[in-house]
Amino acid sequence: MRAEATKPETGGLIDGAGVGKEIRARVANDVRTLVAKGTTPGLSVVLVGDDPASAAYVLSKGKACEEAGIRGDTTRMPASTKQAELLAVVDRLNADPAVHGILVQMPLPKQIDPDVVLRRIDPNKDVDGFHPVNVGRLLIGDPHAFAPCTPAGVMVLLRKYGVKTSGARVVVIGRSNIVGKPMAALLLQPGVDATVTVCHSRTRDLASHTREADIVIAAAGRPRMLTGDMIRPGAVVIDVGINRVDDASARRGYRLVGDVDFESARKVASLITPVPGGVGPMTIAMLLDNTVKAASRFAAAST
Ligand code: NDP
Repeated sequence: MRAEATKPETGGLIDGAGVGKEIRARVANDVRTLVAKGTTPGLSVVLVGDDPASAAYVLSKGKACEEAGIRGDTTRMPASTKQAELLAVVDRLNADPAVHGILVQMPLPKQIDPDVVLRRIDPNKDVDGFHPVNVGRLLIGDPHAFAPCTPAGVMVLLRKYGVKTSGARVVVIGRSNIVGKPMAALLLQPGVDATVTVCHSRTRDLASHTREADIVIAAAGRPRMLTGDMIRPGAVVIDVGINRVDDASARRGYRLVGDVDFESARKVASLITPVPGGVGPMTIAMLLDNTVKAASRFAAAST
């Protein structure tokens, strides 16, 4: 065999926007089936305060719901909202049979404890997958768990691109409850079978871990921290990061970059997700997917 034939190919792009679109089309189809049987899936989003980034996320979630045929509504509350007032709204949505998924947009104003709010959401409507019951279900491999949308989206991308996870060494950078930890839990499940290392800000010599990995998943919120020299040739690189960096030439004065230094990493990686257009579009697609799952279970339980 010629030496060139064994050299791993590099720079293959993982098209999260395309895969996200496919999932949304499948979800729309599932919605039509449910509607025909008498259940219109409903997602209720609660937005407290006027953080522009949160408002933009909520808007795009509403639009995505509409496109998929999901009944989406948003409850907007002022930044001065008291915790008890927000809990009362959650209670109302928990009790509403037309609402199958509830999402309280984070971050919340200082006077509200996000943990108290997340724990109040009915776990069967917790389409974000942040309630401790769903966290526990995910860890024990219960198929009824709602997996948090971003790591669930990463799993879909890995499967879609035929990335072998069984026995693979995977390094996850970041240990947050919304990305890093559930990502590790999903990768560890029997059937996925990865060997997972979770790194964080106290990890010594991060590069010594990432250079050993077949798959690196970066979710640290640090612009371009993972550079090409930290990646094993032929590895798969998933960039979860979304960071704003100043850019005077951009219309808004900033642009979005990931946690991976794309230009140097793509020369080494066999497959890599771009930012934007990689993991981001998967997050919303998986939110719709979780909402339809919640509605299907509701419909099955009420027949
Ligand atoms: P958090 O800030 O909650 O967590 C970041 C994690 O990265 C922490 O565990 C932190 O360690 C670790 N970390 C920070 N710096 C380093 C470092 N230098 N070396 C190693 N580890 C480090 O962020 P999130 O998990 O919420 O989000 C991570 C990124 O993903 C952000 O850019 C966010 O915008 C993006 N994101 C993207 C989504 C999407 O849809 N694509 C959805 C959600 C998030 P420690 O615990 O020790 O502090």
